[in-house]
Amino acid sequence: MSHVYDRQYIDGAWCASEGSEYIEVQAPNTGEPQARVSAGHTDDVARAVQAARRAAEAWGVRPLAERVQALQAWQAALAQRKDALALAIAREVGTPLKISHIVQVDAPLRNISNFIDCAQAFRWSSTLGHSEVVREPFGVVGCITPWNFPLHQIVLKVVPALLAGNTIVLKPSELTPQTTQLVCEALHEAALPDGVFNVVNGLGTVVGAALAASEAVDMLSFTGSTAAGRAVSALAADTVKKVATELGGKSPAVVLPGADLPRAVKATLASCMLNNGQTCSALTRLLVPQAQCDEVQVLLEQELAKLTVGASVDAASRIGPLISRRQQEAVKALVGEAVAQGAQAIGAPAPVPAAGHFVAPQAYWVAPDNPLFRQEVFGPVLSVSTYVDEAEAIRLANDTVYGLAAAVWGEPVAARAVAGRIRAGQVDINGARFNPLAPFGGYKQSGVGREAGPFGLEEFMQTKAIQTNPAEAEVAK
Ligand code: NAD
Repeated sequence: MSHVYDRQYIDGAWCASEGSEYIEVQAPNTGEPQARVSAGHTDDVARAVQAARRAAEAWGVRPLAERVQALQAWQAALAQRKDALALAIAREVGTPLKISHIVQVDAPLRNISNFIDCAQAFRWSSTLGHSEVVREPFGVVGCITPWNFPLHQIVLKVVPALLAGNTIVLKPSELTPQTTQLVCEALHEAALPDGVFNVVNGLGTVVGAALAASEAVDMLSFTGSTAAGRAVSALAADTVKKVATELGGKSPAVVLPGADLPRAVKATLASCMLNNGQTCSALTRLLVPQAQCDEVQVLLEQELAKLTVGASVDAASRIGPLISRRQQEAVKALVGEAVAQGAQAIGAPAPVPAAGHFVAPQAYWVAPDNPLFRQEVFGPVLSVSTYVDEAEAIRLANDTVYGLAAAVWGEPVAARAVAGRIRAGQVDINGARFNPLAPFGGYKQSGVGREAGPFGLEEFMQTKAIQTNPAEAEVAK
């Protein structure tokens, strides 16, 4: 049955959209209609922005303790919906249910506490000579988020922005309406002051574009494709607002001679296949010494054979479906183009269910001019290339317009030296685990700015310098 999501959340209340159009959303597991969501209207955006504007002044000067309390209430309300959220994300995104619980729900819930700790430890003012330097909110922040980690992406923007004292208008992905509904219900329960948090569902080209262009929005925080990031940055330029962008990636894993090859291959494939290949920071380009290509071939065949494909709600599935028919077709078309240009398949693709948006996990030997080496696939496809010496490995790792993440495997000192020469926002050495407090963001066309931890909190703050006359300050004492 197709559920209808026809309301917006504006000024502390659910309300009808000014628009009458709907977006049809298919279930990734079956390809059948799953939801109809309001396509939104620019008048909805105007109302939401006005509500956020009215609420901004009072929210911005509230004591931090009160803002923390409101976010803790939201966290508790989300925690009560943990199972519903994990299931909604499994059904809407296609994330296998067990991964959905751990990565899509538990991790972002913990991250709310991380941000609260950062805000409580933050130096909100400091002294520089005769200046007092204070950090203040921007005012109204427009947030545009994608579908691949829907709760995580909302938390990464909304929590630090609210803690910093901003009010919010969120345009979530139109492809995950049930997740959005649960997030909003939890926020409503947390009883934030009216207008502090608003949500407008709809299309990026209508609702997202109106937010980006709005004169009453002081900052835009966007996560999504590089193409859409470019579009919103251009729209936002007219009003010279701050724009933070978290965009696409084509991240390399460099395996140096002497590395633990089985671990490196296994971990790179796991990163590439996380969330069915729909992860911005996925390691999608494996770079290996030419002398080791036979071993790599065998290891990859063994690892690929372990990846069972099936419905995301089935406990046996390691790989679920892609989000949409469009995404499935785009991935298949890119692989077809790559094979036509010489990509060599590693092993045989696993069987996949006929209905739904499934694509078998795959790996290919490719040359650096192959489309699989250059373009973001956003599906379960790994490209593997060889290099002759370290200089070539570094050159190939950096031979991309992107710079979101990377990995290096090898003897620790050599690996650290190579990590320093890779142009990417995050580099993991020898399988080091993800650090939710570390700044996350891109070099080059992977974006501008950083999310997560103290750097992600600061992103949502203005900086003001107030100069005092030293003699007067002495008298005041
Ligand atoms: P997308 O760019 O199609 O959409 C992202 C969001 O932007 C959605 O809410 C969409 O409605 C909106 N949007 C689309 N076009 C717009 C426009 N012209 N103006 C305003 N808003 C617009 O991306 P997606 O398919 O939802 O997500 C996949 C992409 O996101 C991949 O490229 C992935 O690498 C990237 N991503 C990056 C990060 C990161 O942190 N760097 C995280 C997750 C996803």
